[in-house]
Amino acid sequence: MDTKALAALLFPNVTKTPEDMEALFPARTLPEGAVVSRMAPSPTGFVHLGNLVQGLTSERMCHQSGGTLFLRVEDTDAKREVPGAVEVLIESLKHYSILFDEGATVDGDNGIYGPYRQRQRAAIYHVYAKQLVEQGMAYPCFCTEEELADIHARQEAEKANYGYFGKWAVWRDRPMADIEQALAKGMPWVLRFRSTGSLENKIRFTDLIKGNLELTENDIDHVLLKSDGIPTYHFAHAVDDHLMHTTHVVRGDEWLPTLPFHLQLFRALGFKPPKYLHIGPLMKMDGDSKRKLSKRKDPELALTYYREAGFPVASVYEYLMTVLNSNFEEWRRQNPDAPIDSFKFSYKKMNPAGSLFDAAKLRDVSKNVISRMSTDRIYEETVAWAKDYDTALYEHLTADEPYAKAILAIGRGGKKPRKDFAVLGDVRPYLDFFYDDWFTVTDSYPDQFEKADIKAALEGFLKTFDERDDMNVWFDKIKRVAEGLGFASDMKAYKENPDAYRGNVADVSMFLRVAVTGRQNSPDMYAAMQVLGRERVLARIEKMIDSLK
Ligand code: GLU
Repeated sequence: MDTKALAALLFPNVTKTPEDMEALFPARTLPEGAVVSRMAPSPTGFVHLGNLVQGLTSERMCHQSGGTLFLRVEDTDAKREVPGAVEVLIESLKHYSILFDEGATVDGDNGIYGPYRQRQRAAIYHVYAKQLVEQGMAYPCFCTEEELADIHARQEAEKANYGYFGKWAVWRDRPMADIEQALAKGMPWVLRFRSTGSLENKIRFTDLIKGNLELTENDIDHVLLKSDGIPTYHFAHAVDDHLMHTTHVVRGDEWLPTLPFHLQLFRALGFKPPKYLHIGPLMKMDGDSKRKLSKRKDPELALTYYREAGFPVASVYEYLMTVLNSNFEEWRRQNPDAPIDSFKFSYKKMNPAGSLFDAAKLRDVSKNVISRMSTDRIYEETVAWAKDYDTALYEHLTADEPYAKAILAIGRGGKKPRKDFAVLGDVRPYLDFFYDDWFTVTDSYPDQFEKADIKAALEGFLKTFDERDDMNVWFDKIKRVAEGLGFASDMKAYKENPDAYRGNVADVSMFLRVAVTGRQNSPDMYAAMQVLGRERVLARIEKMIDSLK
């Protein structure tokens, strides 16, 4: 077979050579040891937590080593693509502030190794496809869907392995005349790899996460170019990661079975393969057993889930770090206020078997993260979230910014900040009582207390209330009211002899709390009254007194 003639026949318009390509994509000038990696998601319209796990791992490795991270849109599978998916993808990665140094952006490409969208790179793949044909390492296959289905059925009947290989690879050794004839008829064709691998042979390979592996060679003549001239993932992966000078490929371990083929392909093309890190899946407990998170069953797999629920980006990051690096939590305990970037991430601490996703743990981590935010930060986070997901909250918070910030400042700062919020969706039920149009009394007074006592306590408080009092004076006044009504002001004395009193000062505080906040549990009541201001406090207590008549 004259493979040069075949190559010319299949790719009449390809005039460029692999050398031309090498010149177009020159080596990067980066410091020794710098990692070049990429996120290479497919725009399916669904961005999932696994994308973020992969992105975060790549991002840390690149930026901790002074390297480069880029975004490449793997849009070779047009059938799976939904309109607008590329924008959705880029936008959600942006929301999670994965900092790309180059690649696809909503406003086009940024960087000299582009295009960064694979469908726009068709001409580049064809240069290498032509070379493989010239070298006898690839050939056209004109099988129709029906023929392939028939091969599959016969393999099934014979209990043979599935796939296009050996005697089943009916176009592998066809004479030139057959090919010319098929082309002349305009029959669609795909380009296949001519595998020389055998299932008898094993290859040894070291994955940076999974460790040393022994894998069976690939004997299938996989498709390199589909009939529309667009490459398969495999071929595009080899060409792009070579030309873009990727040093480390971080991807899901669902790609491990095709790794032997990828390595074959790199060799056939004369490329040095990158280092690989295959990440295990995210799993969850289902009853007593673990299973992979599934798109169909688990809404928490979708990134939109976290955004809608109001997990701040920082919380999701912090949680993923605890999942990815086993030593992160200890580091965080020792460095509670350090920026997350100062943690030394290492792929060596990743679990080869995959990680367990734990929703309760995420909430805990998030509570800590939010509790450490400054008032300005939690305000901004909440406003940004509410703008999209809770318009009424957005309007309340922005109508009077100083008031909203004063509310959010309660219990913030200091050694033991309050941990009221796991998600930004928790903010509204926490602070709604500060707004008169939202305020309602939701908790009632426990039956054990006499209405008359409650009313007397509220009236007593009103008589001496002065919003300029400091907390001690304010509380002393409540104690006096308690004593005047036969409630113990000293908890120790009360505990020693509860029957001697009608109740205690905590009960009196609760009477006030329900009147002013509408509930038995609320943020610090002194601070709350300071923020509410004299008018509101008086009005609410008076209203409660009226209702007790
Ligand atoms: N487009 C592939 C995917 O979304 C990328 C895998 C890779 O990173 O190489 O699974």
